[in-house]
Amino acid sequence: MLMPLAQGISVLMPDAPNFFPYCICMYIEGEQRAVIDFGAGIKAFEEIDKNSVDIGMLTHNHPDHTHCGVLFNDTRLYAGQEEEQSYRSEENYLKLRGLSLWKRFMGDKALPENNTLPISKDIPGRPGFVKLDLAGTFTDRQQFDLGRGIRFTAVHLPGHCMGHYGFYFEKEGILFAGDIDTTRGGPWYGDVCSNVGQFINSVQLIKEIDPHIFASSHRRPLTENIGQSLDTYLRVMLDREEQIYDLLKEPHTLEQLAQYHLSFNRRIFFWEDLWERIYMYHHLQHLMELGAVVEIQPDIFRQA
Ligand SMILES: [Zn+2]
Repeated sequence: MLMPLAQGISVLMPDAPNFFPYCICMYIEGEQRAVIDFGAGIKAFEEIDKNSVDIGMLTHNHPDHTHCGVLFNDTRLYAGQEEEQSYRSEENYLKLRGLSLWKRFMGDKALPENNTLPISKDIPGRPGFVKLDLAGTFTDRQQFDLGRGIRFTAVHLPGHCMGHYGFYFEKEGILFAGDIDTTRGGPWYGDVCSNVGQFINSVQLIKEIDPHIFASSHRRPLTENIGQSLDTYLRVMLDREEQIYDLLKEPHTLEQLAQYHLSFNRRIFFWEDLWERIYMYHHLQHLMELGAVVEIQPDIFRQA
């Protein structure tokens, strides 16, 4: 369902009660037409004329944002320069997702089967890597002019993953912030290229931009209490970091920290055991960057 936010600028809501494995996308009509993100589902995209879409922008390379990109054969696709290689091959894609850490963190535990997620008729292909041919890449603060007065700027918002971008329509005061989505679970940072410090800085940058309308991938657009919603969202990650810091009064290995299950107490996607450890890894990195924690022996950490 298209929901207009301003003249020529709409969000496209997935035709599904639960937004995952879908994402809210954007549809923009200037002289040129653009779509931002491609995870709304086959049915939702029937509402627009796909053949008339000139350019497609990707906030980042997660499958819930890319799966319907394969339906847009006549559209030139662009993604952040930082993740360009991950669109080219599954090997490069899995490198960013952290599969290389499986052995280190999970030992001999068997890799999960990649075909256990339910397949939906509303999603082309299977969940996982989606091969998309990019026409090009963009970098931080690059501007796009679609004609009829519609312009937007790519804003690099790393932390969720390294090539994560938002798009800012300055004249209208609309920011689309991708997976900085102010959902109740808080930030997700389970890729090897995620980063706690960068996530904090990206949320701070959004607060400085101070948009009138805050649109994101998994929650309806907000027009009120945007700063407060961002603070509440970030607090989930910061509280977890404080818990870890307190635990590190006593020395802990990363594996011992993972056993507290501070991040994932439910298993839905079969990757949670790995993500739990990647979260601990990112918090330890961040606490060491701050000088709050030291590695006293290989893989043993304690408050500084
Ligand atoms: Zn994502």
